[in-house]
Amino acid sequence: MRSLVLIGHGSHLNGESASAVYRYAEMIRARGLYDEVVEGYWKEEPSLRQVLKTTASTDVTVIPMFISEGYFTETVIPREMGLGHQGPVPPEGVARVLGGRTVRYTLPYGVHPSMSQVILARAHEALPDASPEDTALIVLGHGTTRNENSNKIVYQNAGVLRQTGQFAEVHALFLDEDPKVGTWPELVKAPRVVVVPFFASEGWHTLETIPEDMGLEGPVTTFADNPHGEQTVYYAKPVGTHSAVADVILHLAEEAAGASTSDGDTERAHDAAWTTFMDRAREGLRFGEVMVQPQSGMFELRHALDEGRPGHELQTLVTPEGVRDQTRRDEGGHHRPVHTLRNMPRGWRAVLDEGDLMRAVQYLYPAVIEETYAHTCHTLRPTPWATTARRQTGIYARVQKATPAQVEEVAADVCSGCLRTRLWAGDKLPQTFFSGVPGAIPCAEACTFLVAEVREEVAGKRGGGSGHSH
Ligand code: SF4
Repeated sequence: MRSLVLIGHGSHLNGESASAVYRYAEMIRARGLYDEVVEGYWKEEPSLRQVLKTTASTDVTVIPMFISEGYFTETVIPREMGLGHQGPVPPEGVARVLGGRTVRYTLPYGVHPSMSQVILARAHEALPDASPEDTALIVLGHGTTRNENSNKIVYQNAGVLRQTGQFAEVHALFLDEDPKVGTWPELVKAPRVVVVPFFASEGWHTLETIPEDMGLEGPVTTFADNPHGEQTVYYAKPVGTHSAVADVILHLAEEAAGASTSDGDTERAHDAAWTTFMDRAREGLRFGEVMVQPQSGMFELRHALDEGRPGHELQTLVTPEGVRDQTRRDEGGHHRPVHTLRNMPRGWRAVLDEGDLMRAVQYLYPAVIEETYAHTCHTLRPTPWATTARRQTGIYARVQKATPAQVEEVAADVCSGCLRTRLWAGDKLPQTFFSGVPGAIPCAEACTFLVAEVREEVAGKRGGGSGHSH
């Protein structure tokens, strides 16, 4: 058995941030090469702290879904996942044995050598007859002062593509550092110019900043009076959303240090947690805000407050992804980065087989089954606030300055809307939903949402609204 974990940044505010990772997970799942493909996030759930617990096997390969190496791939992800590694990741990745699992951590997909082929594919989509006679290629990166590595990969790819001889010129330009993208009319001489953004996803930069800085009016823009004469720019889509990225991810996983030739085993604690859950589900179970009922060999899942409502009044879902998408926002349309906040929308029911029920529950309440089961076995170890705060770096290091009263004030506001009980603050949870109390779910460690809110409090920027406004 083998598990593949894709790690994204995620967002506390914007539900679309996780979509690219979802999409690649689905594409790779469909190929059936791994027994499971799991997603994890910095700012959503399952969090980096939880995601390993949610994997079913003892053989886990973790791929950071980032376009370049830097702060997240070298510092935040390895630290939060407890990989015992900091700093640049070697080409073969890092392998560790963590709590019975062999975990391999690779470079981000964006630095894989085959990304030059993805750039080429994007260039040919934008201009199918690009030619070495009259076409220049611009590989356009973000560039930043915070991360000295982010430009390296753009230069490397430009170098590789220059050598193919398929373009008259190949340039590496940047949004945030020299040579800046706005200088292209002076630099580029060819009459036709393909611009490929080396970005992970479509967003503010690809939709607004780049077109503005280059003076683009759409996918094709002609400039009549440039210093080198008339030039037409063909603007490609970002590399990170190309379907070939799924192949790049699989290459990375196969090339990871000690990639398994034989399969791992089923992870025992994970297996025990889900066996217990399924035993309860077969009898009918309420947990969190939902209820599950066995129904002629299948299972019906719905919001517990919709109990008794006739099926035709509810939207019927038949896939775990349907459940995920239906519950991604609350009824006011706000993104739900913390799934145990009591704001799950009503009005739906899902009819699922056993395997799909488990996947749907993983989407509904990531890591809740594993952590609650561990709590019942007395193996869930709480992490006190001081330890969580000490671990923070970058813009979150500021939370170390929070007084206990400030933490408590924020937690009283945010956590009061959450089903979880704060073991990390010393609260006790004598029973759980496994023993018949639906809302009893442990919280072993402050989530990143709370950490972010404490940071706002320390900065004096917190308005005092509850987490529901996010
Ligand atoms: Fe819920 Fe608070 Fe725990 Fe976050 S820290 S998961 S809001 S109880």
